[in-house]
Amino acid sequence: MNENEYLQQVATRAGLQHYPQQGPWGRKSGSAVGTRDGYVTAIGISRDRQGVKVAILLRFKKLEQPDLVKSAVKSAAIKKGKLGAVGNDFLRWDWKYSFAKPKAEEVAKLAEDLRTAIRPATMGFDGRCEQCASTSTQSLTLLNGMPLFICATCQDKVRHELNQADVTYDAITPNYPNGLVLGLGAAAVGGIAWGLVAYGINRIFLYGAILIGYFVAAAVIKGTGKVTRFGQIAIPILTVASVLFGDVIFYTLIVMRHQNVPFSGRILNAIVAHLWEIEKEGSGVLSLLFGLVGAGYALYSARKPKFQARFQPLGAPNA
Ligand SMILES: [Zn+2]
Repeated sequence: MNENEYLQQVATRAGLQHYPQQGPWGRKSGSAVGTRDGYVTAIGISRDRQGVKVAILLRFKKLEQPDLVKSAVKSAAIKKGKLGAVGNDFLRWDWKYSFAKPKAEEVAKLAEDLRTAIRPATMGFDGRCEQCASTSTQSLTLLNGMPLFICATCQDKVRHELNQADVTYDAITPNYPNGLVLGLGAAAVGGIAWGLVAYGINRIFLYGAILIGYFVAAAVIKGTGKVTRFGQIAIPILTVASVLFGDVIFYTLIVMRHQNVPFSGRILNAIVAHLWEIEKEGSGVLSLLFGLVGAGYALYSARKPKFQARFQPLGAPNA
């Protein structure tokens, strides 16, 4: 049975409707969605690094203490699957499987058991918009795949707020001097830490370079206020400088210990003059690459957020 047929079957058993290509999990097979006793219910198949699972999402009226939902569902001691996540208006339950999908009727039963379990701690929806709680709203709308009861006015409001966030982000004036100062500081601190740790454990700890790259990038971005071209150029340079600086400290300390001599400008000069040869011998190049990986990761995660609200009526995946 393919995913589509399976979700179709789950939908029938659970009193939901199957919507291919729609729902929170962004798969072609879509999800089974509907409202049961006021609880928005979505069931779909979700695949991630940990494997493949049937995911059940229950949504309820926003509440103050999601912990109560957690304890309610815990005390129900449900055997199939496990709690995926709880928020102040949803609960997600994951049922991992490896070969055969769980039986459709068992999934439907599970969704019902979950609903029963959280009922004392939550309230279902009552045909009104969940944002303004006044406008009558009978049908579900998907916001970036998430089924909600949201009226047209509130949809406009959400769109407007997100546009505003977009404008606000663009309006941040980058503070370059600040970025440079914080970046230099981070590079210096990172380099010293790198050198001392290497000296302490008597070898170069490659993964530390990733941390340095990440640290330097985070400092520059914090200083400038956002990711800019300046940061994209300064961050790799500072990262490389930081790792090299750390290596100089490490090798200088090593020479001082081996030769049993105090620190002197002569040793330092000798290390700096031969740094490239030393790096080529050891794992120098690799540590520079690791540093850049860390920097790249930080740059990537700090890129301009996507402020996008896509509303879509259920049953119209191309709308
Ligand atoms: Zn509303």
